[in-house]
Amino acid sequence: MTATAQLTATTLRNFVGGRFIETDSHFEKRSPVDGSLVAMVAEADRAAVDAAVQAGRAALNGAWGRSTVPERAALLRRIADRIDARFDDLLAAEVADTGKPLHLAREVDIARASANFRAFADMIASAGVDSYLTEAADGRRALNYALRKPLGVVGVIVPWNLPLLLLTWKVAPAIACGNAVVVKPSEETPSSATVLAEIMVEAGVPDGVFNVVHGFGQDSAGEFITTHPDFDAITFTGETSTGSAIMRASAPFVRPVSFELGGKNAALVFDDVDIDRAVAGLTRSIFTNTGQVCLCTERVYVQRGIFDEVTARLAESARSLRLGRPDAEGTTTGPLISTGHREKVLSYLELARQEGGEVIAGGGIPDLGSDLAGGAWIEPTLWTGLDQDARVMREEVFGPIAGLIPFDTEEEGIRLANDTKYGLAASVWTNDLERGHRVAGSMRVGISWVNNWFLRDLRSPFGGTGLSGIGREGGEHSLNFYSEPTNVCVTLSDAQPQSPVMPETAAAS
Ligand code: NAD
Repeated sequence: MTATAQLTATTLRNFVGGRFIETDSHFEKRSPVDGSLVAMVAEADRAAVDAAVQAGRAALNGAWGRSTVPERAALLRRIADRIDARFDDLLAAEVADTGKPLHLAREVDIARASANFRAFADMIASAGVDSYLTEAADGRRALNYALRKPLGVVGVIVPWNLPLLLLTWKVAPAIACGNAVVVKPSEETPSSATVLAEIMVEAGVPDGVFNVVHGFGQDSAGEFITTHPDFDAITFTGETSTGSAIMRASAPFVRPVSFELGGKNAALVFDDVDIDRAVAGLTRSIFTNTGQVCLCTERVYVQRGIFDEVTARLAESARSLRLGRPDAEGTTTGPLISTGHREKVLSYLELARQEGGEVIAGGGIPDLGSDLAGGAWIEPTLWTGLDQDARVMREEVFGPIAGLIPFDTEEEGIRLANDTKYGLAASVWTNDLERGHRVAGSMRVGISWVNNWFLRDLRSPFGGTGLSGIGREGGEHSLNFYSEPTNVCVTLSDAQPQSPVMPETAAAS
C-alpha cells in the first residue's frame, strides 16, 4: 500500500514484525493548520508493544543477529535511496501532521532523514575498534581488541517537532550497530513513521528489526515501552520532565538511556557585529519551525550600545514573517503543533505581561481568516523589559518567542547566558575572531555556534548538559551508545626472561 493510499484510508496502524497490525483503540490526529482530521491512529496496547519487543528479539536471534557491517551499511544506503524515492509521500505526511511550510519540511526534515542513513552507513563502514598490544612486566605479550556488539532491542521515543529527522537520527545508528528498534513517534506526528515502515519493507529490512507503535506517553505506548522489562536500552528526545519520568521507569532494569531534552538557549550579540547578519541569524534561530526546534533561541542578550537598534530591527523582522498554509506562496511560518500547545505558549505570553515585559512584536493569536480559525496559529512574539529572574526567561516555552536583555561586558554576557539549569545550545554573534572562539568555548552547553545557528555536522557530538540531557549522539558517540563492546584478550607469547637492558620497565597490568 502506498503512503498516500494509507493516509486517505485515514487509519494509521502499528508495524510489528514486518506487518501492519490493528488494535482496538484509536485516536484522532488533527491538522494544526485548520483543525481538520488527518487520520485515525491505532493506539498500541501492552500486547502490541510486547509483540514488537518479541519481534525484535526474534530478529536478533535470527539472521539479523549474524549480519555483517558491510551488509548493514549497504542496507542503510538502500533505506536512504528509498527515502529519496518516496520523498513526496514523506513530505505530504510530515506537512499534514505538523503544518510546517513545505520548503522547511523539504529542506530540513525529509532531506535530513536520508542523510542520517547515509552518514551512519559511512560511519559504521569505517569505524575502528580499540586494539592494544599488551606487554606485561613478566614478559607476556597479548593482543587486546574490542568487538562491537548490538545492545539488543532499543526503545526509541521521539517528539513531534522534527518527527522524521529526530527518529532517523536514532534509528540509523541503532540499525547500523545491529540492533532491533521499537519506535514510538509522538501522538501528534504518527504519519511519517508509518510511511517509513513501508520504506523499511521496500528496502529489505528483515522483519522485526524496525517496529512502530503508536500512542501517547502515560498509560499508553510510551509507558508500555519504558516499563517493559525486555528492552535493552531507551533512547529519548523530548521534554526534560518526560526524560525524568523515563529515567525513573528505567531504573529497576539498570539499562542505558540516552536523553536529548529541552533547552532555554541563549544568543549573545556583541557590539562589533555585522547587525544585518545578526538580525537575519536571530530571526532564523528564534522563529524557525515556529520556534519549535529544541535549539531555538529564547533568550537574546545584546550589548548595550546596539540594544535599541537590534531590538527594533528584530521586531521589524518578526513582523515581516508570513503565516499561512504550508503550500501558500511566501509562507515562512506555520502554526504551533496543536491548540493544546498554543494554550501553554499563550500562558507564557500572559505571564510575560504580568511580570512586566513590554511586547515589541506579536503577542497574541493572529486573524488569518475563517478557514484557518480552527488552527493553532500564534504571532511571532518578542518582548523586552524583563530581567533574568522572570519565569519566562528561565522556563522553556517552545514557541516563536524570545525576550531581549541588554548587557555591558563580555563577562556579564557569559554569566547571563550560562545562568540556566539547561545547557543545550548557544549562539555568539561577533566580528571579533578571538572573542568568538573565547565566548563560544565558555558556554556551558552541548553545542555553541559562532555567527550561525543550526548548522550541523552529523559526525560531531550532539546533546546537552544539565536539564538538557544525558550523553551525546552523533558520529562515533552514536555508535558507542548503540553498541556494547566486548574486549577480547589473546596471548601472543608466554612469560619471557626479563630484558637485561631495561629491567624495571613496567607495562600494562
Ligand atoms: P514530550 O516529552 O511531551 O514527548 C516526547 C515523546 O515522549 C512523545 O512520543 C510522547 O508521547 C512520549 N512520552 C510522553 N510522556 C511519556 C512517558 N511518561 N513515558 C514514555 N513516553 C512518554 O515532548 P514533546 O512535547 O513531544 O517535544 C517537545 C520537547 O522536546 C521540548 O522540550 C524540546 O526542547 C524537546 N526536544 C529536544 C531535542 C534535543 O535534541 N535535545 C530535540 C527536539 C525536541
